[in-house]
Amino acid sequence: MYTIANMHTSHTAHFVPLKRYKRTKIIATVGPATDSYESIKRLIEDGANGLRLNFSHGTHEERTRQIPWIRKASRELKKPVAIIQDLQGPKIRLGEFDDIITVQKGQTLKLGYNADWLETGIIPTQYDLASKVKRGERLYMFDGKVRTIITSVRGGIVYVEAENDGILLKRKGINLPDTDFAGDVITEKDRADLAYGSTQDIDYVAMSFIQSARDIENMRKIIKGYGSDRKIIAKLETKLAIDNLDEIMHATDVAMVARGDMAVEVSPEVVPVAQRQIISLGLQYHKPTIVATQMLGSMTEAPEPSRAEVSDVATAVYLGADCVMLSDETAMGKYPHEALKIMKRIIMYSQQHGVVKVLFKGQAEKEPTRQLAISRGAIHMAQSIDATAIVVESKTGSTALNIASERPDVPVIVVTDSPRTAQQLAIVYDVKSYVRPVSPQAAQKLTEFLLHEKVFNKGDIVMMISGRQPGVVGTTDTIKIRQLD
Ligand code: PGA
Ligand code: MN
Repeated sequence: MYTIANMHTSHTAHFVPLKRYKRTKIIATVGPATDSYESIKRLIEDGANGLRLNFSHGTHEERTRQIPWIRKASRELKKPVAIIQDLQGPKIRLGEFDDIITVQKGQTLKLGYNADWLETGIIPTQYDLASKVKRGERLYMFDGKVRTIITSVRGGIVYVEAENDGILLKRKGINLPDTDFAGDVITEKDRADLAYGSTQDIDYVAMSFIQSARDIENMRKIIKGYGSDRKIIAKLETKLAIDNLDEIMHATDVAMVARGDMAVEVSPEVVPVAQRQIISLGLQYHKPTIVATQMLGSMTEAPEPSRAEVSDVATAVYLGADCVMLSDETAMGKYPHEALKIMKRIIMYSQQHGVVKVLFKGQAEKEPTRQLAISRGAIHMAQSIDATAIVVESKTGSTALNIASERPDVPVIVVTDSPRTAQQLAIVYDVKSYVRPVSPQAAQKLTEFLLHEKVFNKGDIVMMISGRQPGVVGTTDTIKIRQLD
């Protein structure tokens, strides 16, 4: 574990001067292109703060190998890293068939659960759609390339009419933008993956295709049933999720702008507006936000990103997202490490040359709480006395989240006794955490340690935020200014 005790005895750690910390964090997806200890360590070294394990692909055996690799690399680099279990959710796919099925506009197609295409001419699906879908709803196949309307559901078979010409290949995804899963988005596969995940050292569970706050509450019950302390990432990608954004942002711990499926389910021009709304609500409710999918998509094949992609990453930084994410780029791309390095360069340049200031039209004022008053007071003071950093003691991370969501222009350093909190805070804007035992002097000792490690310099002014009872949730009440000598 990357505790302070370890740090004192080790001289291998390389500490980065404060102004070179990147404030916007990076999540990278681990996949075949990065499936080795060396590769994972390089991702973390080059700037990944969170690693996503995509349970739509891969086996539990692979995960059982990768999770200890991540923890080992994170320990060696003395850098807390968040591990994210990304569940497939009701991502429905076509089943197995050997042909390329050609589809013509106006043609009627039949879809059936695990059907035999050759024998029956019914296109197989890997999920029993018949009980969920209704006549008149849209059904898209192959990432929206073949669009159809459901004309009837009879005897377990779904009949659809094609709206355009196209082809179908086995295992391609199906999207059902109009179908209401009525609180039932956690599939049998997800439950099996959750049961497996409960035996593993994981910080976040990401939920795909959620539609309402109820979906998140259901997941919380399951997680609680395992007695586990992982937090929830809501992947926003369905029409209903966009309609129910406010309640979902209240209910979730973290929100992901899942632009890949969102573009198919809603439509591409909605995505940038939804992205701004989600980031703004995240700031308002202190919920970290992740901008995902195709950020540097062309780097799956090419060593250089497109101009538009560079601009897309910079935009997410300016809007104040907590994290930008790499998917195929690091999971199966030809240039995983180049993609990560370029992403970090874009973040650093944007951070140094622009001010993150998000105000989406219609954003409401925050609830006035004692915690908010402390956070704002501390940030105001820190900025007016030109403090080097805000050092905050935080048990669950809630004070840190509160401060970070104000997007201060000052680095936020967290001292916590919980490795889980440090790992979960790894994907939060501006926050850098250190794990050390709770004691009344924890923050002061950390500050002295950072002075010793030359992260701080003599004469630096540090704002310290702590509680009367260190380690007790909700007792933050002390703001102290210290000049280091
Ligand atoms: P996925 O989610 O990569 O798991 O599909 C992200 C998205 O849809 O953008
Ligand atoms: Mn998706």
